[in-house]
Amino acid sequence: MTAPLLEISGLGKRFGGFVALDGINLAVAEGERVGLIGPNGSGKSTLVNCICGTLVNESGTVRFNGESLAGLKAHERTHRGLARSFQLPRPFTSLTVAGNLRVPMVYTVNARPGTHLSAADIDARCAELLRLVGLDNKATHLPRDLTQVEMRKLELARALAAEPKLLIADEAMAGLSQAEVNDIVGLLINFNERGITIILIEHIMRAVMSFSQRLVVLVSGKKIADGTPDVVIQDPEVERAYLGQ
Ligand code: ADP
Ligand code: MG
Repeated sequence: MTAPLLEISGLGKRFGGFVALDGINLAVAEGERVGLIGPNGSGKSTLVNCICGTLVNESGTVRFNGESLAGLKAHERTHRGLARSFQLPRPFTSLTVAGNLRVPMVYTVNARPGTHLSAADIDARCAELLRLVGLDNKATHLPRDLTQVEMRKLELARALAAEPKLLIADEAMAGLSQAEVNDIVGLLINFNERGITIILIEHIMRAVMSFSQRLVVLVSGKKIADGTPDVVIQDPEVERAYLGQ
């Protein structure tokens, strides 16, 4: 068996005396689509922050693409192929939509050893990415001109522009209409078909169920279930802790 793309072992994180994550084990294979769910405050975003290096876990290990991430800063992890999109989109407000996609191409993709995208390459990739997410008609607009769903697409496109191996999408759909949710799920599946492994954190169960090949459940900083979505949502402990609330 090949090693997982992401392998988390015994990961623990405290905030003062509060245990936010307790002995998390999780392996994600290359090409997988994993849904991560749990009540508010269960530690989902904290786990993402520990994986991506914006928080430092005090116990356990995170291995990515065959390498330990211990001691690596967030941007060093981005360079190695980890990307995340934020719950609240964080575009560069003074740059156009296209300009926002150029930043990761210039500063992340081109910083990888052996990679050099020319200005023309960057323009072409930018145009392709904008088409892929359906923002080609907004290329020269500023982020403030975008609708909410367009803003979410820009956030995902920004993550994708860094050409990640793994994309972690943290609540990319909150507040969207049903049609918009379907649109974003379709986009994420499209990204996955292009070879990107994806972890989706989401409260909208319809979206989670249609997206996920595997479902992982966190409750109060502990992983309480990990398996096929149909089996996991019928687990009485999951129902009690999460779905029944
Ligand atoms: P989720 O994303 O599942 O809603 P979080 O990971 O954001 O949950 O938060 C898990 C718990 O850790 C919550 O109780 C939250 O208040 C706490 N927490 C998160 N970040 C911090 C922080 N920087 N300092 C103190 N407590 C935090
Ligand atoms: Mg969160």
